[in-house]
Amino acid sequence: MLPIDYRYCPECSTPLSEGMVDGRLRKYCTQCHFVRYENPLPVVVALAQKDGRFLLIRRAIPPKKGYWGFPSGFVESGETPEEACLRELEEEAGVSGEIQRLLRVGRLEDTELYGDMLVVTYLVRVTSDTPVAESDEVDEVRYYSASELPSYLARSLRDVIEEVGGTS
Ligand SMILES: [Zn+2]
Repeated sequence: MLPIDYRYCPECSTPLSEGMVDGRLRKYCTQCHFVRYENPLPVVVALAQKDGRFLLIRRAIPPKKGYWGFPSGFVESGETPEEACLRELEEEAGVSGEIQRLLRVGRLEDTELYGDMLVVTYLVRVTSDTPVAESDEVDEVRYYSASELPSYLARSLRDVIEEVGGTS
């Protein structure tokens, strides 16, 4: 489901109109104050390493089902991005970690499910032992050295990998 395309005002059920509000085309309600502002979803990514190798998960659900990637997920209300990052690492890869530093803040558009996302990537050091795929969202977890990374990841992360280093 790409971001919900509201047809009715969620506050008073009046059919929404569309027009320029605050310099952008937006949906709004003519009967109350409601304006449909669209914001990216906040996502955190754990670029997690142990002994110079990267911890990757294989996604068991869309988007990108069957692809390897870094543990990631949405920030929940009440969490800091750092807390969300370590929680996702634990949920998806079954390991605990320690935030080393903020690596990137960027934008990504997922055309499959979630639409526009604000993506915050942290470098994380894995502090516990064997990773386990214990979430329904993940079917395999393992470490990759820099040279073993799937080509689609190695390409998109070349600059990050150079920056953080890793064993090849
Ligand atoms: Zn309304």
